[in-house]
Order: sequence, then C-alpha cells, then structure tokens
Amino acid sequence: MPKAKESVLEINLGNLAHNYRYLRSKLDKEVKFMSVVKAHAYGSDSVVIAQKLQELGTDYFAVAYVEEGVRLRENGITLPILVLHPQFHNFEEIIEHCLEPNIYSEKILRTFIEIAEKQKQKNYPVHIKLNTGLNRLGFDQPELDTVFELISGTGSLKVASIFSHLAASEDWKEREFTLGQIDLFRKMAWQLVENLGYEPLLHICNTSGVINYPKAAFTMVRSGIGLYGYGNDENVDPYLKPVGTLKTIISQKRNLEKGATVGYNRVFKVEKPSVIATLPIGHADGINRIYGKQKAGVFVNGKYAPIIGNVCMDIIMVDVTDIDCDEGDEVIVFGGPQHPVDFAEAGGTISYELITGIQRRVTRKVIPE
Ligand SMILES: *Cc1c(COP(=O)(O)O)cnc(C)c1O
Repeated sequence: MPKAKESVLEINLGNLAHNYRYLRSKLDKEVKFMSVVKAHAYGSDSVVIAQKLQELGTDYFAVAYVEEGVRLRENGITLPILVLHPQFHNFEEIIEHCLEPNIYSEKILRTFIEIAEKQKQKNYPVHIKLNTGLNRLGFDQPELDTVFELISGTGSLKVASIFSHLAASEDWKEREFTLGQIDLFRKMAWQLVENLGYEPLLHICNTSGVINYPKAAFTMVRSGIGLYGYGNDENVDPYLKPVGTLKTIISQKRNLEKGATVGYNRVFKVEKPSVIATLPIGHADGINRIYGKQKAGVFVNGKYAPIIGNVCMDIIMVDVTDIDCDEGDEVIVFGGPQHPVDFAEAGGTISYELITGIQRRVTRKVIPE
C-alpha cells in the first residue's frame, strides 16, 4: 500500500455496514431507521456515508443545519432529510431542496406556515419536536393546543413525524428519568395524533435508546454514534466497529541526551537517553493540547508511544525510545490497536467530540466494503 503523505482518516464502509446491520437487528423489522449524518457524518464524510447508508436501506437522514442537507441533495441523496436545527431565515432554502424542517417553537411554526402558504405548498412534510426533559428544543405540553390549532388551520403542511430526544439514554443511573421522558412523549404525541386524525411517525430513541430501550422504538429511531462504531457503553462497544482510523507518519527521528527538553515551553525534560519521533499532526488537525504531556499516546509499529511535551499546531512529538521504527513508518493515532474511546478518555472527553473534531485538512480515505 502506498504510504500516506501526511495524516489520513480512513473511513471503513464495511464497518459502517456492520454497525448499521447490528443496530437494525435490535429492532422490529417495521421500525424505520433514520441515519444521523450531521457534522460531516460525525467527522468522516457525509456524502460517502449517506450514499452507503442509502444503498444499505436506511429510511431517512437527519442533519443539523440546512447547508448539510443541501450538500447531500447535491450529491445524489434522494431519501427524505430532516433538518434538526433550522432557523427562520432558511425555510425558503429548505423547501427549494426538499428538506424537512424540525418545527420546535411557536415562532418557527408560524414562520414556516407563512412561507409555505405564500409558496402555495400543500402538505409539506414537517417534524414536530416535543420537549420531554432535555430542555433544549421543542414544544412543552401546554403549547400542544396552539400547535394543533395552527396546523389544522393550514393545508400547507403535513406532520411527517412527532419526536423528542432523550437526555441520558446511555446512563443507567438515569433510567427512571428516561422512562419518564418516554412516558411523557407517548402522552404528548398521542394528544396530537388524536387531534390530527392521521398517524405520523413517532421517534425518541438515539443510539443508546436503541440499545437500552428498544421497546421505546415507536415507529422510527434516530441513530448517529452507533453507525460510526460507538455504543456509549464498554459492554456494547465490542459489537460495533469504529468506522474511522486516524493514521499519520514519522517525519523525523531524533536521539536526545539526558537533560534535553522537547517542544514549546520546554515542557518535556528528557530523563535518560531517548529517541523521539516528530509526527505531522497537531491541534489544528483536531488533536487538542489536552492530549499532550503524556496524557495520550499513539501506536508505532504496534507499540504505544506517549505524546510528549505540548501539542503544536501541526506537529506532535512522541517517545519511541523502545520502539523499532524509522522515518516514513506509519503511525496509528486511533483505531486498530487503540480504541478511539480510550484515546478520547485519555483526553477527558467522549467519542463524539474526538471524531467530530478531526479537521478537514486531514485527508479522508474511503475503504469500500
Ligand atoms: C445528534 C442527534 C441524534 C443522534 O444521537 P446519537 O447519540 O449519536 O445516536 C439523535 N437525535 C437528535 C435530536 C440529535 O441531535
């Protein structure tokens, strides 16, 4: 295999397919599957990932912002796309690209109706978000009458789904709270459904919801992190396969005597004759400074090499004193011998933040199924 010039994020579509099938296996066949591909499909490549998921048979996509949905439309994605976080000023663009807005507040609802009516839209699909305890976006129970009145007063829109979002589906200590959210969702959704006279899709489960509360799948689930290989639980992680592997290369090797220091601010002091390697990846690539000072490490020829000193913008230094390696050798930052969750935890963060933080200047390399 040709060696990478600099750092590369490999995107393994076979692993994506495995994760998709695993998550689907937790659900009844009729339950629809919404694949969440916001934030460049969690830091990978939303177009490549969505094309593969469309081929695998997903039913729906979700993105956070309108621009993310437009990009999918421009790249051959024909399935419905929910925009989770639209603003007043982008409804025209939403309609132009056949995207489906999350309607989460009265002001958003009124604005959408105004624009849809002006455009003479009929039954335009929208998704009604209910707040059941996350307190982020969505209608509260006392607002439901107004929601229904506004919807029944216009023919311009149709409720494609009613949904809510769990606050702590991965946390067993919060089980009672989660069951309360599910219960409240059921009540609020039915209040709307009874009035509407037709039954939109209902969904509340994210990945950890699918895994921990499969009975609350209703008629659709929304999964993001699980598709990319993370179960938010060390008992689930072994069944999933991380889609991304972050690789880099040794630019230079250097022998240092005791007493030398490495990097900015001379943070690392060499205690014994050492060999260090310089790698072309830094905080501007998504390896934040928190990973420096030996908090985290990389794998060089199968062996752990701690990151020493401060992380620079484009460079890290690692200690390879006891590792047989050479300039030009491949280095694995995460994936393969190092589970990305272990790397994230070494930096005091979670998989979501690590993988969405890998910057666009890191080359993406797709490995087909
Ligand atoms: C991001 C997001 C999801 C996906 O959650 P995962 O934990 O990644 O499965 C689902 N629903 C909403 C509303 C989201 O914002």
